[in-house]
Amino acid sequence: MHPFYSTVAERAHHRCEYCQAPELVFNFPFEVEHIVPLSRNGTNDLENLALACRSCNLDKGNRVSGKLQDSHDVFRFFHPKIDKHLAKINYIIIAVGFQNSFHIFDQR
Ligand SMILES: [Zn+2]
Repeated sequence: MHPFYSTVAERAHHRCEYCQAPELVFNFPFEVEHIVPLSRNGTNDLENLALACRSCNLDKGNRVSGKLQDSHDVFRFFHPKIDKHLAKINYIIIAVGFQNSFHIFDQR
């Protein structure tokens, strides 16, 4: 288990920080993942760590951006710390398409 699992899990209220799924439902501990992957110069700092269910962690992989289905535009992925206020919106999106749950439209 990741050495910061307890800290990250408590901070996330034991919910996946991407899809908001409760860890309790899955009956096994979620994973601590790097929001910005180490392979992309991310760090092991707590602010770069998020609690993620297996599906979200696998979908995200080592990426920080991607394309929406039927689009050539590249969007950055949902960032659990920066986009925290959009979590409810993200939750609705996941009900439509899990693959797109990481994506938000840049409002700027
Ligand atoms: Zn998830």
